[in-house]
Formats: sequence, structure tokens, C-alpha cells
Amino acid sequence: MRTQPDPESAPRVTSIIKRGEKGKGLTKNETATLLRNIPTQGPLFKSLLAAADGLTRKQFGNTGEIHGQIGLNWDRCSQDCQFCIFSESWGEAGTPNELSEDDVLKRTQSFAKAKVASISIMSTADYPFERFLRMGTLVNREVLGRMPLFANWGDLSFEQACEVKKAGYTFYYHALRLGEGVTTKIDPYKRMQTIENAHRAGLLVGSCLEPIGPEHSVEELVDTLSIMRDLKISWMATMKRIALNGSPLAKYGELTDEEFARVTAVTRLFFGNRIFTMAAHEPSSLCLHAGANFLVAELGTNPRDTQCETEWGRAWDVESCKKMLKENGFRTFKGNLFKRYARLSLKNRHLTHLPRIMTNRLFAP
Ligand code: SF4
Repeated sequence: MRTQPDPESAPRVTSIIKRGEKGKGLTKNETATLLRNIPTQGPLFKSLLAAADGLTRKQFGNTGEIHGQIGLNWDRCSQDCQFCIFSESWGEAGTPNELSEDDVLKRTQSFAKAKVASISIMSTADYPFERFLRMGTLVNREVLGRMPLFANWGDLSFEQACEVKKAGYTFYYHALRLGEGVTTKIDPYKRMQTIENAHRAGLLVGSCLEPIGPEHSVEELVDTLSIMRDLKISWMATMKRIALNGSPLAKYGELTDEEFARVTAVTRLFFGNRIFTMAAHEPSSLCLHAGANFLVAELGTNPRDTQCETEWGRAWDVESCKKMLKENGFRTFKGNLFKRYARLSLKNRHLTHLPRIMTNRLFAP
């Protein structure tokens, strides 16, 4: 997505940004025009960021969310995604390691004490499904069902999606990754089917445009965004690919901070009122002025880190996330996230997910 902006397109770019500001979303063509024709500095770049930032502050009530993530295991994964440290063919996860139930509970308690808004449990796709469910049940019991629990495992059949929900998870994190089926061993159809299955089972689905590198074309980014919107995901993020040492994709390098902020801001305008929150990995002040309002504090393993315990590596802790939100003019959300998302549905006039939110809130164990 290293493009040559056409200076003649400036009036059209300005009018698309104004349309995006209204919060009803953008078309694919408009989105491609922004990605192609906004340089990473200068007045158009500033007005793009201001539009996405203003939209987030208005639609999300100038409030940021902090989410705690627990990575369960450090192991090679047969799905062999070329951007992931757990890749079977080149990854560095030579000596397998995993958190015990006690380890997971300790990390849950630390997140609960720090008052994160939600917790995510993440593992490689080969992690035993039954054990993943058990971890969800344990964590859910520990937080007394008071906060949404995200599951981040592999692909799910409909029956498995129902099991995930029964175990106490309320969200499923799943993405059709850029290059799916080419730089991964996973059939893209299976990824999309999992999102459908999760929705049918009553889970909410959070997703991400990931892992973005300079090698991805504007068309590829826009098509993937469009699929995510068509699949009615309710929580969105952007993530840049980290050029991990030894990864076959490292030769492409990484997006600059400004390129990443541009794609984050365009993603925010593309989705408009159809999402409840927007994350950007890795977090930065620039992204918090480009439409992001959701930060992730991480414990345990992390596919973008060479450290087995990411808290000693590239992860952010809850206090740093709070500080970053404050420094960038966001209040930190405290309270019941289900109620917040229900209110945002009504306020922003997008009711698609309201029945699922209410069911999860009312029947959470
Ligand atoms: S990204 Fe997920 S599915 Fe792919 S190799 Fe890493 S753990 Fe496995």
C-alpha cells in the first residue's frame, strides 16, 4: 500500500472525508480513494485523522476501553501462518510451554483488580479445545460473569461455537487475515464460516484488519474490510505486521507509524456506526488520534513477540494503557460493557447486535 497520491484528487478526497465524518460508513470506492490519495503528512492527512478521531469521540462518548489478554501457550502451530512466531516452519517456539490453571487464574485476578473492561483468552489453533473451554469457564467464574470474555482459538463448527458460548465466552475474536490461504495454511472460507457459526451460536464477533504490511495492495485491504463489514462483525481493529526475525515476510519491512495511522483512520470511517469500539495494535498516541479507543494489555504468550511471556517483551500493562488514554484525552471506561454496548447501539442507531448483547447480558452466568 505504498501509493502515489494524485494531487488532482484532493477535492474528492475532502468530500469523502466529510461524508465519513457523518458516521454512516463509506463505500469500497471511497475507501480505496482515501487509501490511495492521502499522503502520510500534510493537510489531507491531518483532516483524515481529525475526522476519524472526531467520529470516535462522538460515537464512543470520548471514552476508551482497556482489555486484558492472556496468551495460554507457546508452541509450534500446524496452521503455519508466516507472520506468526508460532509458525511450524520457521517459528521460534521450539520448547513448548503453557500456563497452568493457577497461572491463568492469577493473571485473571490481576486484570480484575486493575479493572479492565473485558478479558480475552488466546491460544494457538492446535491447543486442545476442551482445555480451552475449561479455561473460559474458570476465568468466567473468577470474574463472576461480570465482564465479557473473548475467545481467540481456531476455526469453529457451529456445534463448537455453541460450546464456546456455553463455557462462558461472549465474544469470539476471528479475522480473515490478509493473504489467508497463501501465507497461512487455512482455507479463507473456513475463517468466514467460523464468524457465521459464532454469530449463529449467539456470540458477538470482534475482528481485525491484520497483519498489515507494505506489500498489501489497496484492493486487498478494501476487499477484506468489506468482507468483515458484510459479515457484521461488531468490534474492529487494525494491526500492523511485525517483521519478526526469520519470518519469510520480514523482507517486506513494516508500515511506518503514519501509514498505520492512515489505514486505522480509513478503517474507522469505513465502519462508521456499525462497531462499538476500535483497537489498533501496537497502540500509539497517533492511533488514538486516528479513530482508535481500545487498548490491549497483554500477559502470557503473544504471536508478535519473541518473548515467551510478553509482559517482559513488547506488551503494554494496564497502567500504561490508562496513562496513554488519559494523555490523549479519553476517559477510561469503568462499568458493565454489555450495558455500554447496548447504549451505543441505540445512540448510534445501529441495532443489529442488540439482541445478542441483551441475551449475553441477561443470561451471563
Ligand atoms: S496465527 Fe494462529 S493459526 Fe496462525 S500459526 Fe499463529 S497460532 Fe497458528
